[in-house]
Amino acid sequence: MLATNRQNLLQSREQPCNIMAFHGSIRPTVCGNLFPSSEVGHKYFCVNTTTTGSTSTGLSATPNPSAPNAPTGTPRHPTSLGGSTGGGAAVPQPHSSPASEVPSPAEMEPDRPIGYGAFGVVWSVTDPRDGRKVALKKMPNVFQNLVSCKRVFRELRMLCFFKHDNVLSALDILQPPQIDCFEEIYVITELMQSDLHKVIVSPQPLTTDHIKVFLYQILRGLKYLHSAGILHRDIKPGNLLVNSNCLLKICDFGLARVEEPDPSRHMTQEVVTQYYRAPEVLMGSRHYDSAIDIWSVGCIFAELLGRRILFQAQSPIQQLDLITDLLGTPPLSAMASACEGARAHILRGPHKPPSLSVLYMLSDGATHEAVHLLCRMLVFDPAKRISGSDALSHPYLDEGRLRYHTCMCQCCYSVPSGRVYTRDFEPPADRPFSHSYEDSMLSVWQGKELIHRFITEHQQGKRVPLCINPQSAAFKTFIRSTAWHSSKVSRKEER
Ligand SMILES: [Zn+2]
Repeated sequence: MLATNRQNLLQSREQPCNIMAFHGSIRPTVCGNLFPSSEVGHKYFCVNTTTTGSTSTGLSATPNPSAPNAPTGTPRHPTSLGGSTGGGAAVPQPHSSPASEVPSPAEMEPDRPIGYGAFGVVWSVTDPRDGRKVALKKMPNVFQNLVSCKRVFRELRMLCFFKHDNVLSALDILQPPQIDCFEEIYVITELMQSDLHKVIVSPQPLTTDHIKVFLYQILRGLKYLHSAGILHRDIKPGNLLVNSNCLLKICDFGLARVEEPDPSRHMTQEVVTQYYRAPEVLMGSRHYDSAIDIWSVGCIFAELLGRRILFQAQSPIQQLDLITDLLGTPPLSAMASACEGARAHILRGPHKPPSLSVLYMLSDGATHEAVHLLCRMLVFDPAKRISGSDALSHPYLDEGRLRYHTCMCQCCYSVPSGRVYTRDFEPPADRPFSHSYEDSMLSVWQGKELIHRFITEHQQGKRVPLCINPQSAAFKTFIRSTAWHSSKVSRKEER
């Protein structure tokens, strides 16, 4: 079996469809697992997968019958439920079969594009070191100007900084060429099977269990990001990657930045996809905080319940009108940071009473508890909106927490006598993300040197370095790929 696998890998390495190659003449002396073997096995409650990278997640509508059901009034701490090993249905995922086995047909798929983020193109590719499918993100136009240089370096450093199961991080960065030829950066991340947008628009049933475990993971990841001082600024279903086991990871940090503590410093309003954009951003506030991400989560929560976009407007003004249709005309105090024109627009219009009761009509899953949490997220005034960590304490998420830590997480483990739970279910970052390096970047050339050095140092002592295989047919397509709106946004002021 192993020999066959090696042969397959050798063959696949010679196939021109493979984008990545080993750097120089180095041969793979180590073929470690890209995914730890602990990811395979008995902990998934939600299986029935389709092939890796397909547009369907194969989400099962059947909840695992052996997973413990949290009764009403369940204590917050899952250990108090008897520490069941849970999990039940033990079906390994096709994408995470051990390296000693022949790659599945899905793993033999040729390299192909799978997505276009705010800044960059993502491909599904084969890692020639172990034959696994991984995601390869090309960050284009890096050295166009100082703004894009800083933005890409920020995203790169963030991807290497993240250590959280619900936040996508860099597994590797491809070896850059000599600095004179250094134009693009390629980052390898874990390949996820789908995203929440595709799940929502698919005909697959979404149970309350699904919604709870998704929402729990979104907030768990956001709490980590916010504790590191990072605002994502583009939380939307398409940026929430999911696997068929319902594991969720926040991705695409092309618009992310660190929090600005000084309220007099202006921040850009060119953030967040319109449907998920918080009212303070729509109203031209020049300073905002992590509450904008929570607003987006509220919109996604409602979308999960109703299977349709909550505020689907044609323009930012109509977007604001749809919000006030639901929440009612905000008081003046909630518009303190709004620009004059936006405030005048609200005051000019008719006085609207709130109509939050329509949220109960989203679906049968819109229970009193669900709507209560939703209404704490969809608060017009950002200062009064619930925080990520407070939202995690809401009783609605108890079952999601239980489900996640009983059969999905990496932080708890099972022993014959039961489940050993972690001490902190929603850990914050161990330190804030530092962005002080940005101030020292004064020119594109200096930025190029900094990024080149960063990648080279990041790789030291790690696995056999990879580089792009310029002979591959796929590469010729890949090299031409650019993000559809990168040029539109990248020239704008970042902050
Ligand atoms: Zn856990």
